[in-house]
Amino acid sequence: MDGVSAVLRSFSEQLAAETFIDDGVETVTSVDQKKVETSIKEVISVYKQIHSLPEPTLLRDQHYQYLKKGLRHLSDAYECLDASRPWLCFWILHSLELLEEPVPSAIASDVCQFLARCQSPTGGFAGGPGQYAHLAPTYAAVNALCIIGTEEAYSVIDREKLLDFLWSLKQPDGSFVMHVGGEVDVRSVYCAASVASLTNILTPKLFEDSTSWILRCQNWEGGLSGVPGLEAHGGYTFCGTAALVILGNEHMLDLKALLRWVVSRQMRFEGGFQGRCNKLVDGCYSFWQAGVLPLLHRALFKEGESELSRHQWMFEQKALQEYILLCCQNPTGGLLDKPGKSRDFYHTCYCLSGLSIAQHFGNMDHHREIVLGKEENRLAPTHPVYNICPEKVAGALEHFLKLPVPDDSRHAAGFSSSKEPAAAAAAAEPQS
Ligand SMILES: [Zn+2]
Repeated sequence: MDGVSAVLRSFSEQLAAETFIDDGVETVTSVDQKKVETSIKEVISVYKQIHSLPEPTLLRDQHYQYLKKGLRHLSDAYECLDASRPWLCFWILHSLELLEEPVPSAIASDVCQFLARCQSPTGGFAGGPGQYAHLAPTYAAVNALCIIGTEEAYSVIDREKLLDFLWSLKQPDGSFVMHVGGEVDVRSVYCAASVASLTNILTPKLFEDSTSWILRCQNWEGGLSGVPGLEAHGGYTFCGTAALVILGNEHMLDLKALLRWVVSRQMRFEGGFQGRCNKLVDGCYSFWQAGVLPLLHRALFKEGESELSRHQWMFEQKALQEYILLCCQNPTGGLLDKPGKSRDFYHTCYCLSGLSIAQHFGNMDHHREIVLGKEENRLAPTHPVYNICPEKVAGALEHFLKLPVPDDSRHAAGFSSSKEPAAAAAAAEPQS
């Protein structure tokens, strides 16, 4: 037992030394941090009592049942997400593909028809039928359709109108608003670059000045904020970095400062990630933060960095897996933020996505698996730029690259119709 327990970080005596020290100054955040640590200690202690072998298990079947039900029926608790219905499709479909659970073709077809009803007559997708088009559900709908990956799914997307929609959101400084008359933040550039590159409507003019705008979001902390001048944040950092990867300009970030910021967000006691400095651990940042590490690894590799590992990402992959498996699973299915919180499809999707990142190092040519616990805990790999499985990215590109890039000269005076093959190919590369 002792020999085996040494593999689990949560069981080691030294972990106690990693708890928060408030230096005798109690604050609201220090009290909250200690509460979280106490709840995690309880989880570990209960786990020790009921498991003779320290082998954390992914509750595959329970998660599958929870997801399967969600695809057909949602409880009243989801009423507040009425404007995020394509998101629910994406969160559930992506979770199922990570679990390698196929979706019956009749259900996949129903999802295609539902998403078609969410597509706006002016291009882009809305949060629900009859609502206004918005970039966030547009990203979710395109990802969901690419996961389904059938001819029916691809043909839902009106690419010409989608390009018109993206142009209607473009701002003179290179940023995008989330919807007509809406707010600007770095999520929008990522959503726009993601859907444009997947569906082959990415024109150089559409993203003119976007790189310099995103670069202005990297602040003194090293991470990226939602708009220039604010606090660095995990979600925005992922969006800005992934958008730059799609545009082929990630080398223009201060990569070392970004690396320092993102690795410092992995909590020393909990093993999971926080979203911002001095905040609490949260399961969804398992993807938003850890997902930046594959992007950084590849960027630093391209810059000729000689000290890069060929075996692991630059974060504690097993510690993150331990946090997700021990602290973020609802015993009846679904995953969550932290112990004591309730499950939801958003956290299920991003906890599983982060678990996948932590289990798989490298790309198809140089791939290494680091799976904590049983072999059955292994998830399918996810593409760190789009967060759908790499073969689904490849399938979408194969389909859409055969189609011509729509003409957007009426939007962009003097633009050249040539696509940037280097940027598109780079974005298509799975992992690393
Ligand atoms: Zn969260």
